[in-house]
Amino acid sequence: MIPIRLNWERPVDGVEIVPLHLVQETSTTETKFVCARSDESEPVIYEITNLENPLAIRLINTVSDEDLVAFVSRFGLPQKLVTPFQVSVTSLETLKEDLGEVLGLGAFPDSVEKARHVNDVLKYVSLAPSFEYADGRNKLVMRPTDLANLMMMEAVFAYEVGATLSRCAHCSKAYLTGPLTGRRSHAVYCSDRCRVAAMRKRNASAGKHQELTVLAK
Ligand SMILES: [Zn+2]
Repeated sequence: MIPIRLNWERPVDGVEIVPLHLVQETSTTETKFVCARSDESEPVIYEITNLENPLAIRLINTVSDEDLVAFVSRFGLPQKLVTPFQVSVTSLETLKEDLGEVLGLGAFPDSVEKARHVNDVLKYVSLAPSFEYADGRNKLVMRPTDLANLMMMEAVFAYEVGATLSRCAHCSKAYLTGPLTGRRSHAVYCSDRCRVAAMRKRNASAGKHQELTVLAK
């Protein structure tokens, strides 16, 4: 596989949600933006090597605004900013939906329609080939232009290798199963922790059931 790599920046002081009120002729609408707390940032490198814990899945698993703030503070904003008020909570929700849609396609058999469907999303992905010197030779690397494009490439990579999107039977978090995910294709729990927790819960309710049966005798 040709490496897919992104040199990115994350905000040193994290991000916060800033509501802005847009006044129109007859109404006022509130839009929530995700903004860095300061101009300080530090460089980070992301590379798609496997599908065990992709950033796309981490984003899909954000539920509340606090989760989104934690995600962006840790991994960076999805795009390079031209103005501070550019990444809205709504745009992140749309990105989550798009990623979920591409990952969800993995469960369907390959067809012309499936290819067309994923290509509708891919036409917005920006990726540039680049030769880079490492270990004595120039190697080809694919460079997504931003974090949103890197996550979309993760989703597309999952689709290519046949990894599919599932929901944990215990905590209902999204995760990938199948090739390069570190999980079997029929795994029903996201982690060993959830598998054990579900087993304990089953055993506890079985124990309760036994106690009740004994009491009834
Ligand atoms: Zn779980």
